Amino acid sequence: MSKSTAKPFSESKLLHADRRSNTEHGAVRKPLHVSATYAYPSAQALVDTFQGKQSGYVYSRQGNPTGAALEAQINMLEDSHSTCCFTTGMAAISGMMIALLRHGDHIICSQFLFGNTNSFMGTLSQLGVEISFVDATDPQQVASAIRSDTRMVFVETIANPGTQVAALEEIGQLCAQHAILYVVDSTMTTPVLLQSKNIGASLVIHSLSKGIGGHGNALGGSVSDTGLFDWSTYPNIYPAYQKGDPAKWGITQIRKKGLRDMGATLRAEDAHRIATGLETLSLRVKATCDNALALATWLEQQPQIKRVYYPGLASHAQHERAAEVFSGLYGGLLSFELDDTIDCLAFLDRLQMVILSSHLSDTRTLAIPVARTIFWEMGPERRASMGIDDNLIRLSLGLENTNDLIDDFRQALA
Ligand SMILES: *Cc1c(COP(=O)(O)O)cnc(C)c1O
Repeated sequence: MSKSTAKPFSESKLLHADRRSNTEHGAVRKPLHVSATYAYPSAQALVDTFQGKQSGYVYSRQGNPTGAALEAQINMLEDSHSTCCFTTGMAAISGMMIALLRHGDHIICSQFLFGNTNSFMGTLSQLGVEISFVDATDPQQVASAIRSDTRMVFVETIANPGTQVAALEEIGQLCAQHAILYVVDSTMTTPVLLQSKNIGASLVIHSLSKGIGGHGNALGGSVSDTGLFDWSTYPNIYPAYQKGDPAKWGITQIRKKGLRDMGATLRAEDAHRIATGLETLSLRVKATCDNALALATWLEQQPQIKRVYYPGLASHAQHERAAEVFSGLYGGLLSFELDDTIDCLAFLDRLQMVILSSHLSDTRTLAIPVARTIFWEMGPERRASMGIDDNLIRLSLGLENTNDLIDDFRQALA
């Protein structure tokens, strides 16, 4: 049995999560709270709320009830004790790192990274954080990069666009042995494929704009604390946040320094849309994974296709690991290279149903030539190190009928 199926979240609990506390007017869905600020019955209550002695909201930049309902749902998905939402996935990643890292720290980072995360790593190194990029599919490379001042290991579960699967469990064991914070960007897996806590992740990142929201109609990001990391050993927690239960120190510092001070707050309207999308997460992810596996299998058999990258194919370099660590599904993302005789852009123009777009995990299938678009800015050398061919096409599978999708690719190849 795979690790992640050992402890799945409950779809039923998730569906009813927003009604567990305070159902206003008996509303079946969590109402949309758009107030920027909050009032208190007394001056003492105002003071106590600001000092954290009484729970409550102070100003919507630091959180509001609609966002909190979404955070509670994500906690159920990840079996985490706390979640902090941000306005985008990038805000979650950058806010978390700015909050937790200091000048002179060392971190280890997968070399297979989402383009904008890779770009942010450049900013972080300008601020004095030293970054070792390693091939995270190989635990040996992570082990050799560990130093006494290593504060964090950051990996994506399934990398985009090459679909490399990081050595998730082995890195979790290494981080536990060395008491290093293990941050996993699980955007491409979602909790349907992977329970990040089961592979030892300390913090789990999601771009909620992708699979969790799922309808391409809202941006959002989240950081969840699984409770596995002992924050009392982490040297960068400010004295002001070393209060109460150490389990909360990390997320408190992320919320204060990363969210409140940087200001990238998730809008209540978007929290509401994402929470609605999240209710169908399991159904959608299963359907997109089925489509991806069917299309990857079909594409691999076509003579005009040079190579297909999909963790569900036996030919994939980390197929066995993916089969062991994921829940029997392999994700909705695949990439492929056309034969050199076929013009990549002309081929894309022949697709009728598939949409040419940069987004991922939408309800509709999206295609993009990555080297000339989202990975253009990083230049040819870095692209080569990530295994990105000039003609690589990335596909994010949607919910269309499988045969209709195959028909579209068949006519475009003909
Ligand atoms: C899209 C994405 C992000 C960034 O999320 P945004 O919501 O677009 O800011 C981060 N990591 C991964 C793996 C992504 O796919």
